[in-house]
This record gives sequence, C-alpha cells and structure tokens, in this order.
Amino acid sequence: MKTKTVKAFGKETVDSPLHLMNIKRRELLPHDVEMDILYCGICHSDLHSIRNEWGGTTYPIVPGHEIVGRVTTVGKHVTKFKPGDLAAVGCIVDSCGKCEYCEDGLEQFCDEGVTWSFNSPDKLSGGMTFGGFSESYVCDEKYMLKMPEFKNLPTGQAGLAAAAPLLCAGITVYSPLKHWQAGPGKKVGVLGIGGLGHVAIKIAKAMGAEVIVFTTSPSKVEDAKRLGADEAVLSSDAEAMKKYSRKLHFIIDTVSAKHDVNAYLNLLRQDGSVVLVGLPAEPLEVNAFSVVSGRRSFSGSNIGGIAETQEMLDFCAKHNITAEIELINVQQINEAFERLERGDVKYRFVVDMATLK
Ligand code: NAP
Ligand code: ZN
Ligand code: ZN
Repeated sequence: MKTKTVKAFGKETVDSPLHLMNIKRRELLPHDVEMDILYCGICHSDLHSIRNEWGGTTYPIVPGHEIVGRVTTVGKHVTKFKPGDLAAVGCIVDSCGKCEYCEDGLEQFCDEGVTWSFNSPDKLSGGMTFGGFSESYVCDEKYMLKMPEFKNLPTGQAGLAAAAPLLCAGITVYSPLKHWQAGPGKKVGVLGIGGLGHVAIKIAKAMGAEVIVFTTSPSKVEDAKRLGADEAVLSSDAEAMKKYSRKLHFIIDTVSAKHDVNAYLNLLRQDGSVVLVGLPAEPLEVNAFSVVSGRRSFSGSNIGGIAETQEMLDFCAKHNITAEIELINVQQINEAFERLERGDVKYRFVVDMATLK
C-alpha cells in the first residue's frame, strides 16, 4: 500500500520522552478522508498508554485521540466531506461494520475488535495507527465526524480548540449520562473533576439533572460550582459525605487511579449504579454489602459509537458546551504529561498542532 510521510510527536520506548518523528499515513483509499490537524487534546488514556500502564502498548507510539482539523483531500467515493470542511476524529477509526454491535451503532464493542485511532493494528494498511499529535490524519469517512461551529472563547482562544476534548472526554460521559437517563428529577454524582469529570458536570446539567461532585482536591470544590455543579463535596470530609448516603440515582466515576468505590456505592439509592469510566491499571475492590443492599450495581461504559459521538457534538454545540482548556505548543507536550500525572491541569491540555509545522 502506498504511504505518505508526515511529521508527528511520539516515542520509541517506555522511558523516552515524546519527540519529533516521521510516521507513515496510508494514501487515500476511495472512501478515505485526509485532514490537516488543527488541535488535539491530551486525555489521561494517552498517559496510561505511553507509559504502558495497561500493558500491550506497541512502540513507536504517537498518542492523541481528541482530534479536530480541516479536510484537505477526499477519496473518489467520499460523499460526506469536501475539502475545507471542519472534521474530527475520536477513538474509533474502523470496525467490522457487520456484527450486532456495529449494526446497533455500538462500534466500540465490535465483535471483531475496534481499530483505535492510535496504537492499534490497522487492518487496511497492515501497520499500526498513529494518533493526533501529528500533521494530518487519514481514515474512512464513516468514522470521521462533522465538526459543528463552536463559539470562540472570551479568552480569545478558538472555540474549536476547546471543543477538541469532546471527542473523547465528551462522548465518554455523554453516553452513560444518556444511557442511565440523566435528566430532571435525577441526582447524578460525578466523581473526579479532571478532563472527563468537568465535561460531565456541564453535560449532565444541560440534560437537566441535579449534579453533585466529589473531589479529592480542595481547590476544585468552589470551581465545581462555577462549572455548573449544584453541590461539591471534598471526599475526605466524612460528615459531608454522610449527607449523601442513599441519595444519588447514579454516579459517574472518572477516577484514573485505584480508589475505594464502596464509599460511593453507599451513596446510591435503590437500583442505583456507580458507572466506571476511569481506567485505573489496578483492580478495584467491591464489598458484597455495598451492592447487595439496595440492589445496587457497579457497572462501566466505554466511549460511545460513531452516531452517538456525532449526536454529542451537535448537543454540545447547541448548548455551547466546551472544555476548559490550557492551550499549549507541541514542544510543551512532555511537561504537560508530567503535569497531568500530578493532577496539575484545569481541566484539559489541548495542543495547538500548528506549532508542529
Ligand atoms: P484526569 O484529567 O487526570 O482526571 C482524573 C481525576 O481523577 C483527577 O482530576 C482527580 O480528580 C481524580 N483522581 C486522580 N487520582 C486520584 C486518586 N488517587 N484518588 C481519587 N481521585 C483521583 O483524567 P481524564 O482524562 O479525565 O481520564 C480519567 C480516566 O478515564 C482515566 O483513567 C482515563 O484513562 C479514563 N478514560 C476512560 C474512557 C472510557 O471510555 N472508559 C475514555 C477516556 C478516558 P479530583 O482532583 O477532583 O479528585
Ligand atoms: Zn463489528
Ligand atoms: Zn481518551
């Protein structure tokens, strides 16, 4: 298969920093679209992956899966895009398209395995996929999203940059909020106010739910209210935690490290669920009594399908929901990963990919 060489930021070993390298993108197939990447968010999954915390990382790796850009070239059978269109790529860039999950728009659970937008075997080219910290991206039009217009920010930053995190953080919380029916009359807990958590507050509020956040960071208690939360609780405050015992309909757990989920299961009403979206590398322990009492459940959710991702982007554009971002140059990417590990980001780093040129 013919390929094209493009610039990217990636690394060859677990210990090396990310640095400028050349990667190969496939030449356009008839249904492929090529975009110039404008912005790419930094998700905690990028950090887990470059450090091989889950096992299974293949090097060299170019992370980045919250990608927005402008279409430059389209394959001869493409109908959904034309050059100049704004477009986006999230986590999924291919799936079998035939299994019951793909037919139901749940490509993230494809029976034959999803091709992720980075560090995944690409069935079409035979190589690996490389992510969004690069000049351009190529994928089939079916997996590329249409990017609605987002208003520019009062800070002068591009709304499009602040919308990039929706491609992973946004869909990862939108899908369970919708599935577990966040809306008027529902008390929804958000656990962890990072990239995912802060977007969850905004989306759950836009859906009409009452939102209570739980954080380990004193500095985020007041900020959570600015983000739209009705109430915010410092999880180390036992008295404050007790007030929510048996009160919540469900809780989205976005925590990236090992933590005690029983403390949160105990805040659920009858039939409530703690929905895990965070992906700590270590197993979590569930006490039998935490779920047996009140017929509660401990469940999980993984991003969302392509149609639902488009629905989420349109929902966020309509409600003017974007992430709170710190826009950085690609040369600052290693420092940004270190700060993300320390929890020193409010609330998402987005890389201005023009700085790669
Ligand atoms: P993030 O920005 O680092 O946010 C994680 C938050 O978790 C932190 O801001 C912190 O919130 C809390 N936290 C961190 N360490 C903690 C600890 N030891 N104990 C308690 N709380 C802690 O990360 P993110 O990008 O939002 O991603 C969160 C997790 O979701 C990651 O594991 C990521 O891989 C995963 N993820 C999953 C999916 C999916 O589809 N399932 C998609 C994307 C990401 P406070 O300061 O408020 O306590
Ligand atoms: Zn499938
Ligand atoms: Zn992600």
